[in-house]
Amino acid sequence: MPRWEVHLTTGLGASILISFGLLMGVYDRGGMTNVLSAAGRYLLPLSLGTLALLAGSVLPDLDGRGMVRWFVGPLAGAMALVPPLAGRMFSGNVSGGLDFLYGPGARLFLFSCAVGYMMLLVPFEHRGFLHSHRAALIFGTVWGGYLLFHPFFDPVGPFLAGAMGYLGYSWHLALDGKL
Ligand SMILES: [Zn+2]
Repeated sequence: MPRWEVHLTTGLGASILISFGLLMGVYDRGGMTNVLSAAGRYLLPLSLGTLALLAGSVLPDLDGRGMVRWFVGPLAGAMALVPPLAGRMFSGNVSGGLDFLYGPGARLFLFSCAVGYMMLLVPFEHRGFLHSHRAALIFGTVWGGYLLFHPFFDPVGPFLAGAMGYLGYSWHLALDGKL
């Protein structure tokens, strides 16, 4: 079984490849001006997809005994907090973003952090359900679905970010030989 650093590095490589490939595809269609405007449109979903890809590439080992389990709380908190915060910031509402961060955002982070840590109480079988294709599908769908709730994204963005989360999770399973 590869160590979590290997999973994370592979996930990071995949994120760079996907982002680069998408931007090259946009470039192919119509020059640098279009790249910048299209990149602006996809930058947020790509960043959120990268977050999910990296999270997904280590999350299956929540059922193990490694150190990575103890990051699940802050990770869940960050995944709940970042979309509404980044959506506000990217749409130019910086003061609204800061208001959100110091008010409901802080509560959302702490609540999600607690929910994440409560996952450690579930007696998952080691390399059982969490190391399955179904768990990867649920992870990608929940992430894409969560983003759809925010008014900042058109449906393409959440679909892309959810697919990247699914890919990162599946990548972990492939490296573990569980796909
Ligand atoms: Zn694993």
